[in-house]
Amino acid sequence: MVSRIIPVETFDLVIFGGTGDLARRKILPSLFRRLSAGQMPDDARIIGAARGDLDRKAYQALIADALAEFVPEDKRPSELVERFLDCLDYVSIDATGDKGWGELQDKMRDVTRAFYLSVGPSLFGTISQKLASTGLATSECRIVVEKPLGHDLASAKELNAQLSACFDERQIYRIDHYLGKETVQNLMALRFANALFEPVWNAQHVDHVQITVSESIGVEGRGGYYDRSGAMRDMVQNHIMQLLCLTAMEPPSKFEPNAVRDEKLKVIRALQPVLPHDTVRGQYRAGNGEASYLEHAENPDSDTESFVAIKAEVANWRWAGTPFYLRTGKRLRARLSEIVVQFKDVPHSIFEEEKHHNNNSLVIRLQPNEGITLRMTIKEPGPGGMRLVDVPLDMTFADALGPDAAEAPDAYERLIMDVVRGNQTLFMRGDEVEAAWAWTDAILANWAAAKKKPQPYDAGGSGPEDALALMHRDGRRWRDIEA
Ligand code: NAD
Repeated sequence: MVSRIIPVETFDLVIFGGTGDLARRKILPSLFRRLSAGQMPDDARIIGAARGDLDRKAYQALIADALAEFVPEDKRPSELVERFLDCLDYVSIDATGDKGWGELQDKMRDVTRAFYLSVGPSLFGTISQKLASTGLATSECRIVVEKPLGHDLASAKELNAQLSACFDERQIYRIDHYLGKETVQNLMALRFANALFEPVWNAQHVDHVQITVSESIGVEGRGGYYDRSGAMRDMVQNHIMQLLCLTAMEPPSKFEPNAVRDEKLKVIRALQPVLPHDTVRGQYRAGNGEASYLEHAENPDSDTESFVAIKAEVANWRWAGTPFYLRTGKRLRARLSEIVVQFKDVPHSIFEEEKHHNNNSLVIRLQPNEGITLRMTIKEPGPGGMRLVDVPLDMTFADALGPDAAEAPDAYERLIMDVVRGNQTLFMRGDEVEAAWAWTDAILANWAAAKKKPQPYDAGGSGPEDALALMHRDGRRWRDIEA
């Protein structure tokens, strides 16, 4: 299959924090891949703006090293790397002072402008104001921000207020990289471009939905940061919430930014408050030669959860009575993100000896091996009577669509190109973020009031016992965490 790449128009992209980890590991390698693919024009300009006292040459050398580290050798021929480095420029800037702002103004051209704030959220307000007061921000420019978008509802509101004091909502691009994943968009294609699923996509036919984001690594190296947030703030409020929204939302009238985001917002607003016994918090123990959460966090008294499981309810006509089980954790058996839509059993089984066959399920896998699998029950081949087996109808993209699909752009590549194109569909709107915090805050408040320690769980397993019980008591079970 030949992929259709439409080049974007030229742009000036300023990356505040252009020397930081996120810029080196994700943003710049993603832009490099878009140049390689022929989507980013050669005259586009990427201006790193950070505290370091570098000149253009030193910045190019820093980014050459980043490409060598984060892009496989066979994907970075030297001619392409040179072309990419030619697009780079650098300004040594102090976000909180005056240094560098005049120089940045001198470098900007009259083309599409985007400002990527790859810095801590405490700088969002200051940088926004500087962009506005220096005239660097035009009425058509775009501003890109990353998680964490607040720590709770109050701080999220404050961040939104700081951004909207200087920019219109149509200029603000809040990145949740889960939304840039190929499979996540495929979930929308699957639901809204096929007549097959819509009639059964509701409480009448869906027994439950489970969403798992499991990681095999712990919080080593970033324990200090993580200990102030925990799994609920780091994963559930943003990434898992977005997956839940796309699974549960009504069909938007158009595939258009505000139509899609309106429908997602309605889902968040329909979420019922979660009762304390419908949540489980966990913290990993030492094991498999690795330290415990408490050691990684360097906080022996920490109450922060590295695992959470929640039974959520979307109280509307489509979903009343169909629970959404959510779980995420560190140091689990495997790295895996998936959404499972588990359909109800047939109303009456005609196969007498085969009462306990599996139900149909649709598994949407985000990582690893992005793809969609529909599990069906069929007759086991052979003459041995009517025996039923559960088999997958596999839609692994690489198999179905050829090697091009296996090399689909990573989430950041797509999202940054969407910023340049001015398409906000895959970005969170301010009211969505606030509604998600309102729901999350209530759960966090219940936990704080209960003053209970998170349950310890073994490294390399599937989380605390209570998380298994959360589904068992409803007569259901989690899918195994398997890579
Ligand atoms: P980092 O500490 O590696 O880099 C910070 C960058 O900001 C540096 O380039 C530094 O020079 C610049 N900076 C800091 N203070 C400045 C100032 N006063 N004026 C000008 N420049 C200043 O941080 P990071 O890991 O790249 O993360 C950046 C932001 O992105 C953080 O808010 C982080 O939470 C978020 N984020 C990071 C990741 C990741 O994978 N690293 C993922 C998601 C979100």
